[in-house]
Amino acid sequence: MQTANGRVWLVGAGPGDPELLTRKAERLLREADVILHDRLVSPEILALAGPRPQRIYVGKCCGNHHVGQRRTEELLVHCARQGLRVVRLKGGDPFIFGRGGEEMDALRAAGIACEVVPGVTAALGCAAATGIPLTHRDHASSVLFVTGNDRDNRSPADWAALTHRDRTLVMYMGLAALEHFTEGLQRSGLPADWPVAVVAEGTTAHQQTVRGTLTTIAGLAREAGLPSPALTIIGQVVTAGRSHLFETSGQVGAQHVAAPVADGDR
Ligand code: SAH
Repeated sequence: MQTANGRVWLVGAGPGDPELLTRKAERLLREADVILHDRLVSPEILALAGPRPQRIYVGKCCGNHHVGQRRTEELLVHCARQGLRVVRLKGGDPFIFGRGGEEMDALRAAGIACEVVPGVTAALGCAAATGIPLTHRDHASSVLFVTGNDRDNRSPADWAALTHRDRTLVMYMGLAALEHFTEGLQRSGLPADWPVAVVAEGTTAHQQTVRGTLTTIAGLAREAGLPSPALTIIGQVVTAGRSHLFETSGQVGAQHVAAPVADGDR
């Protein structure tokens, strides 16, 4: 039994807008003794915890690991063994490119009780905030989340899986890999004018979106000097359902062909 131990909650903080936190996440933040957070978690979200919990930054930046993954896991175990209520707060959802699985395994191996609280992953937040539907009956019947840089910086093994024309691709961690990725997609059969959007700091007050095509987007994103974090959405949905309600500012290099939007009750 783990009676002497505390507990760890792996909590998703959502993509940036504090109002996208779940009620459970907000409660756990307030009740925590200690919060371990990373770079993607904004000060506004941390402020929801109130003054009591101790905060520990375990962020990483662009491969420059401030606190290594193993060290983070050791810290979680160490805090829990002191009987503390530990919140490990992660941007987006802990189980989407968030190493939540690795941390859960480490905690279980150490006999520490661990619970996961989902968060709004960046793809869903950015899609909502830009009015790009990730699926759409006219344009995409599936959506695939991929990472632009895996552990070994390899290219995706299966380019063919990425080039289905009725599929939306969402690439996380992508700015550095954007050019390589968009070239690979074209070599694997997607057309040069296939629509792409890059969303930086999605759902925050600083959100910026650049729209283009597989051939133009890397240059446009570079010209715009987009900051991190940024996420890339690729597919016909990028041209679907565009509305003036969304993003009247901050767009650079819009290049798109308006796609027909079917109405009617679905
Ligand atoms: N667990 C997180 C993802 C962590 S990986 C989640 O579920 O969202 C980090 C990557 O997520 C970033 O490089 C970027 O591609 C994406 N990301 C996170 N927050 C973002 C935001 N507010 N806007 C755009 N992309 C974001």
